[in-house]
Amino acid sequence: MSTIVKNSVVSIHYKLTLDDGSIADSSFGGDALVYLHGHGNLVPGLERQLAGKKPGEKFEAAVPPAEGYGEYDPQGEQTLPRTAFPPDVDIQPGMGFHSEDDKGNPIPLWVKAVDAQKKQVTITTNHPLAGQRLNFSIEVVSMRAATKEELSHGHVHGPGGHHH
Ligand code: ZN
Repeated sequence: MSTIVKNSVVSIHYKLTLDDGSIADSSFGGDALVYLHGHGNLVPGLERQLAGKKPGEKFEAAVPPAEGYGEYDPQGEQTLPRTAFPPDVDIQPGMGFHSEDDKGNPIPLWVKAVDAQKKQVTITTNHPLAGQRLNFSIEVVSMRAATKEELSHGHVHGPGGHHH
């Protein structure tokens, strides 16, 4: 196994730059990101461009919104009373959480704004990076075969162990 294929456990460093030049995220200088390839653990456009790469390779990957965090949906916003949220949670813009559709499937949602005076919270189905082109700088650090446990879970567990 010399190039990234499905079921490779891959360690990468990444820097994510938006079209306005701001750096949204970076792992350089910290821990590399370890993920299980081919299981939807990264945004689709990045996972697709990592396929076939080798440890030591560095490359730039531009990912359009449709293959990243989705197009921005102006219908995706809704304002709710603060009482719709647990009173003991400090609700802040940018926080993500899950609701459920009528079949019990998780729907990811984000807090867009909090109006303390009106006691209202605006939520959105748009990921904070929806509608943005994602410009990744990638360095493939290492790779190995997945363990049976990782394959059965469909992801790699962090050093802190795990939750389910
Ligand atoms: Zn797991």
